[in-house]
Amino acid sequence: MNIGILLWNTCNAKCAHCAVSSGPREQRVMTDEQLRLLIDAAFAGDPHPRVGLSGGEAFLFFDRLCALVSYITGKGGLVSVNTNGFWGLSLARAKVKVQRLKDVGLKQLVVSMDQFHEEYIPIQRPLNVVRACTELHLEVLVQFVATHKTKRLADLLKEHRDDLAGVNCREIACHPVGRAEDRIDPVDLITQPGIPAGRCPASVLSFSADGRAIPCCNAAGHLKPLELGTVNDRLDDIQEKFQSDPVLTLMRWKGPKALRDAALDVGFKDPGHGYIDQCHLCYELFKQPDVAAKLRDEAPGLLEQENYKYLYDQYTQALHSSQTAAASFKPQPGPGC
Ligand code: SF4
Ligand code: SF4
Repeated sequence: MNIGILLWNTCNAKCAHCAVSSGPREQRVMTDEQLRLLIDAAFAGDPHPRVGLSGGEAFLFFDRLCALVSYITGKGGLVSVNTNGFWGLSLARAKVKVQRLKDVGLKQLVVSMDQFHEEYIPIQRPLNVVRACTELHLEVLVQFVATHKTKRLADLLKEHRDDLAGVNCREIACHPVGRAEDRIDPVDLITQPGIPAGRCPASVLSFSADGRAIPCCNAAGHLKPLELGTVNDRLDDIQEKFQSDPVLTLMRWKGPKALRDAALDVGFKDPGHGYIDQCHLCYELFKQPDVAAKLRDEAPGLLEQENYKYLYDQYTQALHSSQTAAASFKPQPGPGC
């Protein structure tokens, strides 16, 4: 089973958009034994799970990071690690660390760079990291978070087009979560009109740096009403809850939009400036405890209704096809007729 682990919340930066409010003083750390038990659980029934490691800043405790990557890849897992690239002091120094991670089997490095990070990490450092990855043939992805007020990915690509030629880069709209909720003006968020209809896009059982089991690392993943337990609970119970929880099942199948009508009934109001995407809608729905409690109560019934609709559609489609087939059936004259 694929799994995400936020290793620690300690970070050498304190970005204004940080969804997990990481910073230099944050100390929440799971023990190595707890981390290894989580990793072991990911292999139950899956010989090659994907394991995403992030933080905080994963490279702050580099030896520990390498030991964990080695432990996972040694068992057959596929590992990606997120970093802000602070350690790319020069291309040569970046290559030493990239090579060490390659040697222990790292599959992918995700490097964050954008205007928020640039306030703490000079841009040349993550660029050195990206170059080190391309020179050493390690898969690398650049992640860039933006608002209407910040630089955009297009600006980065224009400024550093030679450094980033051939590199996979993606822009993510900043969500009003964690530190961003206080620090980013809602009017600056890159929202769209209307209600987002998409399904839950990234439901991956994850563990926060303080050991909470959460359904994703996206916008709403860290909210209390969506928590699935803690690292001290039985992991197979958490996995079972993750797979069968009616709220999560409904969102994976139909998207958070399927819960909005029930929320409107208890006074939920859409934010006036639109939604970024379905994860933003999910966050707005579950951040108010009374609305979240109502949605928890209603989800099993809504799921049943959706199941009924699905079965009814299947039945009417099958009926329609058999009637069409019967109407178009022309008996072929047999020999001698
Ligand atoms: S966004 Fe990343 S680099 Fe910035 S404070 Fe959060 S964890 Fe640290
Ligand atoms: S829709 Fe909700 S649960 Fe799904 S990935 Fe987005 S924030 Fe997470």
